[in-house]
Amino acid sequence: MSDSISVAKHDTPDCIIIGGGVIGMLCARELAGEGLKVTLLDKGQTGQESTWAGGGILSPLHPWRYPDAVSAMARWSQAHYPSFVEALKIETGVDPEWVQSGVLVLDPEDIEGALAWGKKWQTQIELLSADQAASCEPALAARSTDAVWLPKLAQARNPRMGRALTESLYRRRVDVREHCAVTDLEIVDGQIRGVNTTEGLLRAERVILAAGAWSPQLTDSLQTTIKVLPVRGQMLVFRAPKGLVTRIVLDGPRYVIPRLDGRVLAGSTVEFVGFNKDTTVDARKDLHVAAIDLIPALTDCEIEHHWAGLRPGSPNGVPYIGEHPEISGLFINTGHYRNGLGLAPAAVHLLLDLMLDRPPILPPEDYALGQQRPPSVEFPQDT
Ligand SMILES: Cc1cc2nc3c(=O)[nH]c(=O)nc-3n(C[C@H](O)[C@H](O)[C@H](O)COP(=O)(O)OP(=O)(O)OC[C@H]3O[C@@H](n4cnc5c(N)ncnc54)[C@H](O)[C@@H]3O)c2cc1C
Repeated sequence: MSDSISVAKHDTPDCIIIGGGVIGMLCARELAGEGLKVTLLDKGQTGQESTWAGGGILSPLHPWRYPDAVSAMARWSQAHYPSFVEALKIETGVDPEWVQSGVLVLDPEDIEGALAWGKKWQTQIELLSADQAASCEPALAARSTDAVWLPKLAQARNPRMGRALTESLYRRRVDVREHCAVTDLEIVDGQIRGVNTTEGLLRAERVILAAGAWSPQLTDSLQTTIKVLPVRGQMLVFRAPKGLVTRIVLDGPRYVIPRLDGRVLAGSTVEFVGFNKDTTVDARKDLHVAAIDLIPALTDCEIEHHWAGLRPGSPNGVPYIGEHPEISGLFINTGHYRNGLGLAPAAVHLLLDLMLDRPPILPPEDYALGQQRPPSVEFPQDT
């Protein structure tokens, strides 16, 4: 936070937000922009959980494998990302490094689905021969198969996005309370009255639950539950020379993401191991081998860091957005699974539309809590 900004303290906020990841922080930023007194609570520090750990690709990795509700939300967000990031940069002086690096998809099994999806969603998509793919990304390992190229897709740099949003909250006089965990919801006669925290009761007539993978812990005693599981994802970052890789490259479940300073991220695992955030030797080896298979020159690059984060996994990737059907004043925004950074602008705009009685940007019923979410193949089938 800038030294010149005084810290806001709201004893009676208009809205409490539980969770200081990208979703909670963006909700807080936008509500404060509407003139509401907002208090945001985080059990740790803002922007340090999944929001920090992610790869920052501003599109689902395989959008053709998701329900339309995810593509619709991603498309709205993609259209608004450049102006959002520009405003954030001007407001805070922190650049989240939005870059339209495009995504090159190599797995032949994805080509048909990708082309059909591109046509349906009118997204620019090109079929490249193996030679064309090699000439646009010279560090790629030699291949003999076609690829598809989605030039309009972009990325942002997670830690920077977290810093920019945190700074924006202080500037907008949001009362940010870190290391303050919500232990349960204060509900009287079907109406939210506030939250109980490790620092005592805090009252408000409106509460947004945006606690990522931890969200169900606060709603499991209610009749309408949200099915969100922690899904561990491990990643590596290589210290690579600037320009070695310039595009996001996706091959089946593995991908590399080039940052502006040359670093290359390699991701990611999908593991259902509860709230365990440890890294493992096996994952490190797998990610290392897969990255070198894609970009052989990474053999000579040091692995700078290996980490794990917990995605808030909803069964089919469609987030839960809206007011809780049993508790008036309790709003939910969670379950963005592998796509929270990419979906955030639309997910937050939609929730605020519902809270503030504005015409919704997307059909709210598609994201409602009661909407069926049949599990995708990678998700445990008994959820
Ligand atoms: C390895 C990996 C790669 C990923 N890659 C991408 C990608 O390329 N593109 C993309 O769009 N998405 C990606 N994601 C997913 C994305 O990071 C998440 O969907 C997104 O960050 C979710 O944001 P969130 O705010 O809901 O959750 P989080 O960032 O996890 O934030 C939740 C916050 O709630 C707080 N909290 C929890 N319980 C409580 C409580 N009881 N009281 C107070 N505070 C509480 C936590 O401390 C935390 O700060 C990736 C994730 C991982 C792990």
